[in-house]
Amino acid sequence: MLPYMERSSATYCPHVGGLRAVPGGGSACPDCGARLDAGEVAGWVREAEECRDAAGEAGGLSEGGWQREVYRRRKVMYELQSRPWASAKRPEMILVCYDLRRGVYDCRVFYKEPRPVLGLECLSVEATAESIRELHGHADPNARLVSEKLEEFHELRREVSEGGGTAPQRRVFYAGEL
Ligand SMILES: [Zn+2]
Repeated sequence: MLPYMERSSATYCPHVGGLRAVPGGGSACPDCGARLDAGEVAGWVREAEECRDAAGEAGGLSEGGWQREVYRRRKVMYELQSRPWASAKRPEMILVCYDLRRGVYDCRVFYKEPRPVLGLECLSVEATAESIRELHGHADPNARLVSEKLEEFHELRREVSEGGGTAPQRRVFYAGEL
């Protein structure tokens, strides 16, 4: 049993059954009925990442368990984010910003007008090669595109840092590079 079960309060639910998209936007947990918007789902993933990191610092006791929970939550999030990809429109621009404090890449996806109603617009990805690679298998072609560009940027930042330089914090990919 994962530690989050132990620290649960009466109202705390880890949404073990996943989250379902609900009409009108957002998602809901079939167990507790909680409704989460996209930002809250991202927070729910981040919570598991933070617990995993804290577990690692505490001696790695339940780090592996938390890593699995991180993967589970991300999978739920990616599936929610990527329902309408059948008609995915090619982005016009992708902006990637590295958030040092959270250790993530925040990606914004821009489209030519008219913007697709359900197109992928933002994505936060943990700044590790492994997390970026996870996205390569995503069902949404635009999420895969973001992951390719992220890999490029992540690699560049790594090379610059290793060469003793200051790695760039942000990068814009224009249509010609996508
Ligand atoms: Zn729940």
